[in-house]
Amino acid sequence: MQLVLLLWSYIRVVLKDPGSVPENWRAVSGEESLEVGTSLAAAEDGFERRSRGGGYCIHCQNGKPPRCHHCSICQRCVLKMDHHCVWVVNCVGACNYKFFLLFLLYTFLETTMVTIVLLPSFINFFGEAKNHSSAAKSAIIFLAFVLNFAFALSLLCFVVMHASLLSSNTTSVEVHEKKGVIRWKYDLGRKKNFEQVFGTKKSLWLFPLFSEDDLEKIPALRGLEFPTRSDVDA
Ligand SMILES: [Zn+2]
Ligand SMILES: [Zn+2]
Repeated sequence: MQLVLLLWSYIRVVLKDPGSVPENWRAVSGEESLEVGTSLAAAEDGFERRSRGGGYCIHCQNGKPPRCHHCSICQRCVLKMDHHCVWVVNCVGACNYKFFLLFLLYTFLETTMVTIVLLPSFINFFGEAKNHSSAAKSAIIFLAFVLNFAFALSLLCFVVMHASLLSSNTTSVEVHEKKGVIRWKYDLGRKKNFEQVFGTKKSLWLFPLFSEDDLEKIPALRGLEFPTRSDVDA
C-alpha cells in the first residue's frame, strides 16, 4: 500500500505542472489595494515590499507574481518555486509541492522499513563471515543495508527541513529572502500554513489529490495570490 502511494505521488509530482505564469500577467488591482494595506507591515521590515510586489522577468518578458521565480533549467518562471528537483525531472512549485512532500515522506518510510527488515541479517553478517558458503549472500545484504540506511538518513534530513519550511510557510528559495526578517509575512500560523499546501480535507492529506473545493477556495494552491499575515489579522 505504501509503495502504491509512493509511486502515485512520484508520478503526480513528475507529471503535474508546478505552475506557470499566465501570458501578459500583471498584478491585479486587488493586489495593489492589498499592497497599501501591508504598507504598515512593510515599514517593519525592509524586505516586505521587495518580495511582495513580484515584478518583471526579463527572460520570459512577462510579469512575475509574488513568490514566483525563474528556473534556469526549465527556462521559465515557476509559481511559488521551491526548487528544481533532479529526482523528479521537474520543478517543484505551487501546484505540486504537496505531491513532492508526500513522495519524500513515503520514500523515507519505505527505506526505513527496508533498513529495519535487513537489520537482523546485517547483525548476523558479522557472525557468519567465516562461513564461506553464504559469503556472497551476506555481502549483498550488507551492502543493501548500508545503502538503505544512508539513504534513509539523508531523506530524514530533507523531511525535517521541509517540515520546518512547511510550518513557517517558506519555500527553499525564500529562506535567503527571509534572513533578517523578524515576522515572515506569509506565516499564517502552523495550521493555516499546512492547509495552504495540503488543503483542508483531512481525508486527502495522505493522498496526492486536492478536493475541488480546496482548489477553488485556497488561492495558494493555484500559485498566483497568497494571503499574508495582514490579511488574516485584518
Ligand atoms: Zn521567467
Ligand atoms: Zn525547473
